[in-house]
Amino acid sequence: MLSYKAPIADIKFLIEDVFDFYGHYKKYPEFEEATPDLVDAILQECAKFSENELLPLYQSGDKEGCTFDNGRVTTPKGFKKAYDQYVAGGWQSLSHPVEHGGQGLPPSLGMAKSEMMGTANWSWTMYPGLSHGAMNTVQTHGSEAQKELYLTRLTEGTWTGTMCLTEPHCGTDLGQVKTKAEPNDDGTYNITGTKIFISAGEHDLTDNIIHIVLARLPNAPRYTGDFTFYCP
Ligand SMILES: Cc1cc2nc3c(=O)[nH]c(=O)nc-3n(C[C@H](O)[C@H](O)[C@H](O)COP(=O)(O)OP(=O)(O)OC[C@H]3O[C@@H](n4cnc5c(N)ncnc54)[C@H](O)[C@@H]3O)c2cc1C
Repeated sequence: MLSYKAPIADIKFLIEDVFDFYGHYKKYPEFEEATPDLVDAILQECAKFSENELLPLYQSGDKEGCTFDNGRVTTPKGFKKAYDQYVAGGWQSLSHPVEHGGQGLPPSLGMAKSEMMGTANWSWTMYPGLSHGAMNTVQTHGSEAQKELYLTRLTEGTWTGTMCLTEPHCGTDLGQVKTKAEPNDDGTYNITGTKIFISAGEHDLTDNIIHIVLARLPNAPRYTGDFTFYCP
């Protein structure tokens, strides 16, 4: 029978003895709430969710798979219920900035969370997992209006996000991307091209999915095929 017991003692050994998370947190006033008591409580709750809710869906989810019907993807039984519990538990917002609805805890705590949830059920964890890249992109490059519209919902988890990079002729070498982004007068872009292999690109866990699309602007550098390799 499949079993998973979150290795809390090992994770705490890494946090306390190997990487000295608390020594680092002390240097940042915004992380003052990340005390050992709070971190322990989060690790315990995360272990419970991973072991009791995600692990049981691991094999059944693989056996059932997703279904695609008339443009709609239905995830395996139990995936949506677990996702709703994940959102209600505030797990998506754990280590994202407070100003957009996050709990503002250190990103290193998010790594412990991803380790437990991903080990219990990697397929399920891909759905909320891809959102983090979308959130970081909007956080770093988005306008205030985009942050207000997209980031708040991605942070609470009511929407998920993707990364649309790969195309049929290129994955590793993204310099060959052909998808075009042509600017309109109102600040929007018309995007044309084909993307493949987009994880969580369609599903029934949320009402909306935000796609971050890598595309070439009209004035983008032409692809030359030259690589510069750095060998230390
Ligand atoms: C489960 C899964 C989920 C994915 N999710 C996403 C997603 O969410 N969004 C997204 O955009 N993409 C996604 N991808 C696509 C993934 O990023 C690409 O498959 C990956 O980047 C490799 O690209 P490729 O398939 O075109 O292979 P290629 O780039 O053609 O590589 C084929 C082989 O050639 C080797 N190779 C390539 N270039 C070089 C080089 N210059 N020197 C030496 N060796 C080289 C590679 O190591 C590999 O062994 C996903 C793929 C998988 C399998």
